[in-house]
Amino acid sequence: MSPELPEPEIRRVIRKRLRAGTLLAATGTVPPATGARGNSVCVVCGFAIRAGRNECEMNGARAHERCAVIWREESDRAL
Ligand SMILES: [Zn+2]
Repeated sequence: MSPELPEPEIRRVIRKRLRAGTLLAATGTVPPATGARGNSVCVVCGFAIRAGRNECEMNGARAHERCAVIWREESDRAL
């Protein structure tokens, strides 16, 4: 199993970080995911993005595809 957080937990972390200003609101559309090379850390949840997982480049940073999608949704909600 992946060490990544369950979705409700990711939402909670994102909302808290958006409020605290430690995560900027995501802008634009979520780009198509690419296969991770396994050398980056998710800007949203802080876990490593393991090789072969789907990752997206959002706002110049890398995130799990799922994290990027939730980040985008919560950014809209936070405005
Ligand atoms: Zn993540």
